[in-house]
Amino acid sequence: MTPDALAASIRARRASLGGRFLRLVAGRLKNLRFTASAEQLKTLSAHRKGESDLVRRDGMWFLIATCDMPDLRVKDPDGFLGVDLGIVNIATTSDGTRHCGKALNAVRHRRRELRRRLQAKRTKSAKRLLKRRRRKEARFAANTNHVIAKQIVTEAERTGRGIALEDLQGIRDRVRLRKPQRVTLHSWSFHQLGDFLAYKAARAGVAVIYVDPAFTSQQCSSCGHVDHRNRLDQASFSCTSCGFAEHADINAARNIAAHGETDWAVSHAA
Ligand SMILES: [Zn+2]
Repeated sequence: MTPDALAASIRARRASLGGRFLRLVAGRLKNLRFTASAEQLKTLSAHRKGESDLVRRDGMWFLIATCDMPDLRVKDPDGFLGVDLGIVNIATTSDGTRHCGKALNAVRHRRRELRRRLQAKRTKSAKRLLKRRRRKEARFAANTNHVIAKQIVTEAERTGRGIALEDLQGIRDRVRLRKPQRVTLHSWSFHQLGDFLAYKAARAGVAVIYVDPAFTSQQCSSCGHVDHRNRLDQASFSCTSCGFAEHADINAARNIAAHGETDWAVSHAA
């Protein structure tokens, strides 16, 4: 695509959006409009560093800019918000908020179906289409993870708490055991959500602690009793000792919060 065509394309796409402008290195294309969310524009104007890259993907233009963000000093947490990462529910908090993975899993499922149909063809266009779908899914997953991470960090910040997460290595090990679900799992997505939580927390001065994931799904968050029979099925937890019943992911998140609090107290005792 020639620079002129590029300019026309950007103008056509962005003409109605915002009054931000961009100048390309070549100097031939001045004052190209671009847009971003209000928050991204704020970050961009305050923290942009170095040059930016303009890339074309799947018929859309993206401006990739590097921003250098200073982390806030970590505030001493008043308790912890526990977060359980999963597949059916992408993230569940100890407060009982469940971030459902339905939409994300539906997108993944559709792509797998498409893949099955196209794989036999092995044509160039089939490959191109699959690649485009894969990137679209990745963008969708990243956006979902951003939204979830932001909500969790905002809630922790608002209530003066830190965030407790399971050690991600542990999540991979546990997930490996669940065969039927393995196909729907993209382990990078877990890592991405963990990474997003960590950097958004750091930016907000919210403490993050990683806890040992052993028994978080089998332990009763009310009395501490550990028994694999406490976990009735994927969604239900019912303690065989005290009778406490709760959604399994919420029970796990409560355990993670409690472990976070203990571990923090131990590591900050001095
Ligand atoms: Zn119990």
